[in-house]
Amino acid sequence: MPKVPHLKPLEQWICDSCGQIIEKPEDGWFELFRDADQRFVNFKIVHHSLASPLGEGGCYSPDVKGDMHLSEVLGPDGLTYLLSFIDLGIHHGPEAKTELHPDHIREWTDAVRRLHTPHFEEGRFVISDAMSAGDVDGHPLRPYTQKSLTRYIDEYNT
Ligand SMILES: [Zn+2]
Repeated sequence: MPKVPHLKPLEQWICDSCGQIIEKPEDGWFELFRDADQRFVNFKIVHHSLASPLGEGGCYSPDVKGDMHLSEVLGPDGLTYLLSFIDLGIHHGPEAKTELHPDHIREWTDAVRRLHTPHFEEGRFVISDAMSAGDVDGHPLRPYTQKSLTRYIDEYNT
């Protein structure tokens, strides 16, 4: 039995609230969390109110500071939106204006990988198993490449 259910890449996710599958993008909801200075500090992928196994709105976080349909952070325009948290771009001024708290870049990176790197959402649950088994070649990007993620899923999520 697999450690986590097998997922369709970039179409299905594991809900951060209930731990069950979000079956399709329309069933997903993206939550944003900010600190007192309005800087982003965390992100969650959860079930949309109507698709929650816990009942209407059951997977929503009470302390959320912004939210939207998951489809709004998917695809090319979704990536464009997420990148704007780091930098709006040179056309908006010479210096980057980030909305992300500098201590929470990892949370942003993790969210972007989950939403835009095929096989990461399933593979992330077994990367540490592969690394514990010494199944890495030392290259820092290795666990996140398509070749590695698909192989790790095949070998460790069984
Ligand atoms: Zn859920």
